[in-house]
Amino acid sequence: MAIFDAAGKDFKQLGDKCCICEREKSEGLHLYIGYICAECEKAIVHTDTSDPIYQEYVEKLRKNNISSIFT
Ligand SMILES: [Zn+2]
Repeated sequence: MAIFDAAGKDFKQLGDKCCICEREKSEGLHLYIGYICAECEKAIVHTDTSDPIYQEYVEKLRKNNISSIFT
């Protein structure tokens, strides 16, 4: 299964749909949990893990991951 392939971060220049903001972006990262655009990746990196917003990001990624498996 493709989403479990990456051992780390796979940088990609091709556009894809970000699983956080759900917009097509030309720059971003393909993580094992899904595609994250550069903007959202920065936002996550600069958000403290104790911040509720961080938990929201994690939740979104988790949901995206689950829906990828079951659809
Ligand atoms: Zn995004």
